[in-house]
Amino acid sequence: MTRPNLQSRVTRLDSAVHHGPVRASAPTILLMHTTEGDSAQSSIDYLNSTHDKKASYHYLIDRDGTMLRMTRPDIIAYHAGDSAWPDPVPATPENPDRPNGGRSINAQSLGFAWANRAGEALTSAQIESALWLCSVYAQLYNIPVDRVLAHREVSPGRKEDPLPSVMDMVAWRTLLTTYLGAD
Ligand SMILES: [Zn+2]
Repeated sequence: MTRPNLQSRVTRLDSAVHHGPVRASAPTILLMHTTEGDSAQSSIDYLNSTHDKKASYHYLIDRDGTMLRMTRPDIIAYHAGDSAWPDPVPATPENPDRPNGGRSINAQSLGFAWANRAGEALTSAQIESALWLCSVYAQLYNIPVDRVLAHREVSPGRKEDPLPSVMDMVAWRTLLTTYLGAD
């Protein structure tokens, strides 16, 4: 299958305010999120603002399938927070915020966020766009499908996104495997 290149399909905003430095090494994890805002625009406004909470994704995927690049892929974005892979330490009531001692997979990962209200079904356009983006970066960086993960898998007990009802990750990795195989 012939796919159009990234430049023609992605809108490059690169406007997230808070992010880290240029990566020292290529990413080895693709991390899936859902936003907590109502609209993609509200998330863009949030990421472009100087809120105290420092957050950024690489890509925001709107309900119509639009892919908005918020942070350059070669730059470390702030999307995972306290996290680890493999073997993340789950959060507990006694240690809800830093169960991994403040370690994070940010430097190892690319962050993709579906615009979503909690529990809302993803649109087919959002799924298609994310499959395409994940396939592009999985191939570019040689990332195996079993390292395409949900935020809740790397920060268990602390983060719930994407909810399993929104995207079951076994199903997602199966879809992506099929998509890559159709290349
Ligand atoms: Zn998340």
